Amino acid sequence: MQKDQFFTRRRLLLASAAAVGAAGTTAGVLMAGGEETARTVSVPVAGPQARQAPKSSAFRLRPLTGYGPPRSAPKKLKVRHEPILRISTKGRRMMLTFDDGPHPDYTPHILDTLAKYDVRAMFFVCGEMAVDNKELIARMAEDGHVVGNHTWTHPLLTQLDRGDIKSEMERTSDVIEDAYGERPQWFRAPYGAWNKAAFQLGAKMGMEPMAWTVDTTDWEVPGTSTIIDRVESGAAPGVVVLSHDAGGDRSQSVRAIREYLPYLLDSGYHLTVPPRRI
Ligand SMILES: [Zn+2]
Repeated sequence: MQKDQFFTRRRLLLASAAAVGAAGTTAGVLMAGGEETARTVSVPVAGPQARQAPKSSAFRLRPLTGYGPPRSAPKKLKVRHEPILRISTKGRRMMLTFDDGPHPDYTPHILDTLAKYDVRAMFFVCGEMAVDNKELIARMAEDGHVVGNHTWTHPLLTQLDRGDIKSEMERTSDVIEDAYGERPQWFRAPYGAWNKAAFQLGAKMGMEPMAWTVDTTDWEVPGTSTIIDRVESGAAPGVVVLSHDAGGDRSQSVRAIREYLPYLLDSGYHLTVPPRRI
């Protein structure tokens, strides 16, 4: 498909730059796992005052936007200058992340494998995929996975103006909230191409920027055994693994996780995710 080819071409162009960027810094460590928490998570106020009936004048002035609960206001975060690349952990903890989906042909199989081993993962979804596959996002919520924002159309953010970046991020957070039940707290720039606007807007929308430590290169469709080898040889405490459940033929990614997941568990790794807001 044309779009898949576009994704692949872009990724090939950006792969070397992204790899240098990821290897060139040791900063961007996320505290996660065990009793540690990714960051202080504030619980939105939903006490009696939220349930009070509005005064009659206020009621008339309210816009008719439906009967759902009000959208939770995102907590503004400190603006980072580089994304989080790995998790900080004392034990053998790792994190699996899947980008570009959800896709009806691949994502259900990955969810099945994760469920089989009772493992949680992160899914950085694109709005245009999420809007057509809301039931998969709902299943992610039910299964305890964490859903992040990966823009609406997967553009190169460094070529967009601030208004377009904001729209890409905001629309995606809206569809995630509808299908997942809460707004995403994590953002990942397509192609790992970050810029100042993405960091600033993400922080304003309550999302931390997350990159990765080990790229499975599954987007190159290198063969199932290569993907397995990348994960198994890259396994180490704190590693964040990048894979894809859409954006091209991801049957190799589907097969690979069936092999490397039990291997990681047998090797004593605990697969973790950041805590979800309660
Ligand atoms: Zn992507």
